[in-house]
Amino acid sequence: MSQEQDCLFCGILAGTIPSEVIYENDDVIAFRDVAPQAPTHVLVVPRRHVENAGTLTEEDADLVGALILGAQRVAELEGIENPDRGYRLVMNVGADAMNSVPHLHLHVLGGRALTWPPG
Ligand code: AMP
Repeated sequence: MSQEQDCLFCGILAGTIPSEVIYENDDVIAFRDVAPQAPTHVLVVPRRHVENAGTLTEEDADLVGALILGAQRVAELEGIENPDRGYRLVMNVGADAMNSVPHLHLHVLGGRALTWPPG
């Protein structure tokens, strides 16, 4: 598991920065966003440091699957898995998307009707 110095989410993964972890397995950790935009707002983060979705390669296909499956598990744990209601998965890539933490993460947002476009 690679760790980057000065990476906020690597610090959370290492346990040196506090977070409210709701799920983890060998590949990912999921914790509550510190500034929630919905009743459920959880970040699913790979243990391995990858900058963002734009830097992924074919070798990272398993990691992408682990993020999506982690998000499904989060939805179940949060009680938002009902397919009649649903939830939103978001990955921001770079400055135009206002990507603020350069460690790949999948936002899981739900628990209310969400607007589109997000703004
Ligand atoms: P992004 O803008 O896609 O890079 O998302 C980064 C997210 O990390 C934002 O929604 C922030 O609110 C969230 N965030 C920043 N610092 C923390 C922290 N210490 N614990 C949990 N979430 C955080």
